[in-house]
Amino acid sequence: MTATLIDGKAIAATLRASVAARAALLAYRPGLVVVLVGEDAASTVYVRNKERSATAAGFDSRTIRLATETTQAALLAVIRSLNDDEAIDGILVQLPLPGHIATDAIIRAIDPAKDVDGFHPENVAALALGNPRLVPCTPRGVMLLLAASGIQISGSRAVVLGRSNIVGRPMAGLLLTADATVTIAHSRTRDLPAECRRADILIAAVGRPAMVEGAWVRQGATVIDVGINRTAEGALIGDVDFNAVRTVAGAITPVPGGVGPMTIACLLDNTLIAAAARRAKLSGAANA
Ligand code: NAP
Repeated sequence: MTATLIDGKAIAATLRASVAARAALLAYRPGLVVVLVGEDAASTVYVRNKERSATAAGFDSRTIRLATETTQAALLAVIRSLNDDEAIDGILVQLPLPGHIATDAIIRAIDPAKDVDGFHPENVAALALGNPRLVPCTPRGVMLLLAASGIQISGSRAVVLGRSNIVGRPMAGLLLTADATVTIAHSRTRDLPAECRRADILIAAVGRPAMVEGAWVRQGATVIDVGINRTAEGALIGDVDFNAVRTVAGAITPVPGGVGPMTIACLLDNTLIAAAARRAKLSGAANA
């Protein structure tokens, strides 16, 4: 068996085009601000890509670049002014932040209605209660990949490898909300291969190059590889041993070109969702 390739690049391009088409119909330009503190090389590349994609979608796209030594108080002041700016629909603070800044305090300071990363405790709680509002971009991208590929989620056994706040936990919440039976596996899980073999849908988000072997995958399962790891030669590889697993799985995402492109497309989509909800509330309040 050779697995069907889930083409994240193409699915993300379709989503970006849909976002641009919907944005063009609006009476306003959705405003997205990305705040970058410091000069982390990977973050700088991600932020540049976010800025370009948002501009291409017709958004009012701004990036605020702050020096590494920016204090927590100064960053909080920037966030407060963005919260108060009615033209801004989405605020994203690029992580990781420099060590002297408490990430939690920054995330909590973002207006939950503008929290397009879906990391604010109010948005985390909404997902945990089965009523998702703004949802983290990467797991949302995985859900859209599954939907676009016609993968049945309801009633399936899903195993999520990894329990980070950014990927694993929200991923599990979304799958549960979509009626999968969900197992979350992590570094303390006993017999990881056996847990993974139970999965109809296996999501790998661990950050360990090619960790998921062919023998860990049930024949015909769908395997989604969230991992992004750089080899010594500079190539990007996922958490899944792609060549071994593709001979067993029914469908698989490549790295690169799988989950990665969906993350930015979902950020744009989240910004539209945030804009529609917030602006409807504002105009409701003005008409009251
Ligand atoms: P993270 O915060 O480091 O979390 C990794 C998770 O994997 C943890 O829950 C950890 O378990 C678990 N883990 C680590 N080693 C393990 C092992 N040997 N066996 C079982 N579980 C293990 O990472 P993350 O932020 O979730 O990111 C995961 C991967 O996704 C990374 O490669 C990252 O670059 C990638 N990523 C991609 C995108 C994208 O757009 N495609 C976005 C975000 C992240 P414990 O909790 O027990 O420590």
